[in-house]
Amino acid sequence: MNLKASGKSGHLVLPGERLGVIEEFIPDSGTYVQDGVIYSKIVGRALMDLLSKHVTVYPLSSGAPVPKVSATVVGQVGNAQSDNVLVRIFKIGPKKLSGVFTGILHISDVQERYVKSMNDVCKPGDIIRTKVISNKNQVSHLSTNDKSLGAVYAFCSRCSNLLERGRHEMHCPKCGNFEKRKLAVDYGKEEI
Ligand SMILES: [Zn+2]
Repeated sequence: MNLKASGKSGHLVLPGERLGVIEEFIPDSGTYVQDGVIYSKIVGRALMDLLSKHVTVYPLSSGAPVPKVSATVVGQVGNAQSDNVLVRIFKIGPKKLSGVFTGILHISDVQERYVKSMNDVCKPGDIIRTKVISNKNQVSHLSTNDKSLGAVYAFCSRCSNLLERGRHEMHCPKCGNFEKRKLAVDYGKEEI
């Protein structure tokens, strides 16, 4: 047990605060990794599970309304793994938030059909519309399982240009790249 790292468990942490290293812990929601070091992405409470080795930061509600179950929310895709992505929610329904909530979209909640990788759904930086399906453990769990849900703005992973909707895939008009996304039916029209 690393006392130095686990000493932060349960404590209030700030974005950019060092939580541990990837040799000791598995970064989970509310964290990001840079050069092998795990940092908090949000203001929240750090939880280091010494059994599973997961380190998670649970967001603190800052007096702003927590998205309710079944609320439609819009946010930016942050940390992405093959089976889930974190979404920094900045809009609940039509209302823009002053702060940011972090929600998580798991691959099993993307759509009815099987999805091989979150890479085919959304990528970091994309703006995505989702629905809150639970707030278990004070974390908003999101779904894109509806034609109105999915990416509303997606960016080329090669050159960051806005992707255009193609016939089958998304197309980058700048560099010619083709990419996959799970799109909302009104892609490109959300007011942000
Ligand atoms: Zn491009």
